[in-house]
Amino acid sequence: TVVIGVLALQGAFIEHVRHVEKCIVENRDFYEKKLSVMTVKDKNQLAQCDALIIPGGESTAMSLIAERTGFYDDLYAFVHNPSKVTWGTCAGMIYISQQLSNEEKLVKTLNLLKVKVKRNAFGRQAQSSTRICDFSNFIPHCNDFPATFIRAPVIEEVLDPEHVQVLYKLDGKDNGGQELIVAAKQKNNILATSFHPELAENDIRFHDWFIREFVLKNYSK
Ligand code: GLN
Repeated sequence: TVVIGVLALQGAFIEHVRHVEKCIVENRDFYEKKLSVMTVKDKNQLAQCDALIIPGGESTAMSLIAERTGFYDDLYAFVHNPSKVTWGTCAGMIYISQQLSNEEKLVKTLNLLKVKVKRNAFGRQAQSSTRICDFSNFIPHCNDFPATFIRAPVIEEVLDPEHVQVLYKLDGKDNGGQELIVAAKQKNNILATSFHPELAENDIRFHDWFIREFVLKNYSK
């Protein structure tokens, strides 16, 4: 059995669980691979997982809870294990990144994804929006995905271009003239998105792709 965990310290974890469950129910391939999904709140649950989704929410709160409960070191070891798969969405992306461009002291990150991230990059006036994005350059035929951004971060800089591949950029630049990178992967086992694919109602294309390209490719033997 391949087990996908969803970190459930804080934030939008139930939505990820439901999306993965829907992928399992609607997809015969996954059924046969005996895929399952569970919420993760402690190291015993984490030890049962092959992959971990770190949800959106509030990265400062997530970081604080992980530190106070002594869970940080276990999370750190899990995500840095090259045979495990990690996907961070929004606050989850902030939490796995190596560098934050501001408010660095508020979040003790897992120092995994070799990028520099800017929190709340879209400013106050446009904190939330759903944009229809063409992801067909990395997800086959997916040219109209509703990507929801909520006080979203962006990747301002890729620190290790040899291992980090930019998957998607929004048009335009931020007010500092930086590109707006909102999806990237590192090697074949780490994925990060600024937006929330788990909030795309009844649309499991992004999760389906994550399971195929990251989870199953890393475990099918
Ligand atoms: N702004 C939040 C943070 O800094 C992230 C928002 C989200 O996950 N939707 O953690």
